[in-house]
Amino acid sequence: MSFKFSLHQGEASSPRLGTLHTPHGDVSTPQFMPVATRGIMRGPWPQTLKPMGVEMMLANSFHLFARPGTELITKLGGLHKAMAWDGPILTDSGGFQAFSLATSKVTDKGVTMRHPVDGSYVDWTPKVAFEVQQALGPDIAMLLDECPSDPRDRDSVALAVKRTINWARIQREMHQHRGGASSGQAQFGIVQGGVFQDLRQECASKLIELDFDGYAVGGVSVGEGHQAMMDGVRFSTGLLPQDKVRYLMGVGTPLDLVESVARGVDIFDCVYPTRSGRYGSFMTDEGMQHIHNARFADDTRPLMEGCECDACSTKMPRGMLRAALKEREIVAASMLAHHNLHYLIKLMARIRTAIGDGSFEQLRAKVVAAYPVKS
Ligand SMILES: [Zn+2]
Repeated sequence: MSFKFSLHQGEASSPRLGTLHTPHGDVSTPQFMPVATRGIMRGPWPQTLKPMGVEMMLANSFHLFARPGTELITKLGGLHKAMAWDGPILTDSGGFQAFSLATSKVTDKGVTMRHPVDGSYVDWTPKVAFEVQQALGPDIAMLLDECPSDPRDRDSVALAVKRTINWARIQREMHQHRGGASSGQAQFGIVQGGVFQDLRQECASKLIELDFDGYAVGGVSVGEGHQAMMDGVRFSTGLLPQDKVRYLMGVGTPLDLVESVARGVDIFDCVYPTRSGRYGSFMTDEGMQHIHNARFADDTRPLMEGCECDACSTKMPRGMLRAALKEREIVAASMLAHHNLHYLIKLMARIRTAIGDGSFEQLRAKVVAAYPVKS
């Protein structure tokens, strides 16, 4: 089955409702993808994901290539089998790792990255990123792009845009040669351009000419501040075709999700819910709480009253989870991660319902009040 996005409601930079059709099932948008960098999540167990409402997952092709290795994943029957997940999967290309790993070096040909396990140098070119993702077999492959480290440095952003476009052409040609989206794998372009509107415009228009199956807004949430990030999101969604899915990479706080949906974004991913949970933070309708806070020491309530997640359903009191997390008990860390993921997945469902029944602005106001912008 081929890949298709159906937009049911909404316009360029307003809240949208849609369905993403993939070979491994439909995804209702707006949607949040949990991150299993190396194919396995840190906290929640695979069989708990569908019951909580997860519809699509993300894994990272560069990390999978490094360990456990593309060959092993292939031997195990491909990424879906290896991850024990039969729903849609999107793989990131490793472009962001080039940005976040200080040891990487970018040239016109691609990225040279240090192998995170054996320390050797890996030439991660557009061709390699493409081939590895073809071998892994996700439903959606992201292009290798260059995410400039400083979104305000015009020279380096302009160079990154040039490389992103050139690499996009190489990867698009390879993809079409393999049969395009009807081969079972869709391909998304990534709009770069930092804080410069003309560069974002140039990048978007060149990518749109190549007619990708979806488009990601890249190079945001790299320390530019909430308002600048949201201005960049609104500007970018305004450049993208309405009938293609829009993906904001690496964004996942309740505030950023609701504000980005308000600006026309359809899908998201982030390690935020699981990572923050493992460190003791848990989401509630009253905002983020921190289990290490002394006021929770003898608190007999579950993480969130009324929450139906597997962690809260045990009725384990906050005081016990706090004590257990102090002792680095892995089940306690896993329970907080699970609760947070459940909270975000349910928040996305509430957002979809609210867009549908016209109450999105009320929900948005509640989320903004509970999760205010940190100054
Ligand atoms: Zn819960």
